[in-house]
Amino acid sequence: MDRPLRFLDRYHRGEVQADSIYALIDAWDAGTAVGADAHVQLHVSLGLSWVEYLRWCELRLLPTPQEHARWGRQDLVALGPSENRYLLKVHGPLRCRPACPIHWPSEHRMVSWPLTWSEDLGVLMRLCRHDISHPDPDDQQVRLHSELAEHDCDGCCKSTIDAEVVEALAQLDGTPASAVALLGGISRAELEQYGGPGRNPA
Ligand SMILES: [Zn+2]
Ligand SMILES: [Zn+2]
Ligand SMILES: [Zn+2]
Repeated sequence: MDRPLRFLDRYHRGEVQADSIYALIDAWDAGTAVGADAHVQLHVSLGLSWVEYLRWCELRLLPTPQEHARWGRQDLVALGPSENRYLLKVHGPLRCRPACPIHWPSEHRMVSWPLTWSEDLGVLMRLCRHDISHPDPDDQQVRLHSELAEHDCDGCCKSTIDAEVVEALAQLDGTPASAVALLGGISRAELEQYGGPGRNPA
């Protein structure tokens, strides 16, 4: 898969003006950025490395293609919930080959969950709202070594149905059929694969 074009790439191609960066920042701030751009950090959504973005903030200067070739190679990325943050040194957007959890995430169901770093496994994880870490399917190590995908799981990463939703359904004394109607669009097979309401996920 080719690297998707972002603001800086398009600016270097002469397709957009430097000033169009303001509208993109506004869209990101307002949460109206579309697709993968809604799920990455602001500087990444612009195609800038962190250093390049800081320079733009200070001096309103965008890197030339020559500068970007040098500064876009490495990036510093802050990960994790605020009380337990890691600063990771990673490849920059210039060297990124999708799919990548940081720069170019694929359309998996955990894409909007916070990224965290597992020091034990050396892989990027996604934190569900029950505070369980699930390996990010876009992590290169996870893709190469299937054993790294094994983890203590509450079911959130495996199903289209959230563990909390299944719990709530169990309270409704509903049959799977009524549950399907309630959730809309989730198949009975998917629900049964999950274990059905009231049972723990396998
Ligand atoms: Zn990347
Ligand atoms: Zn999981
Ligand atoms: Zn969960």
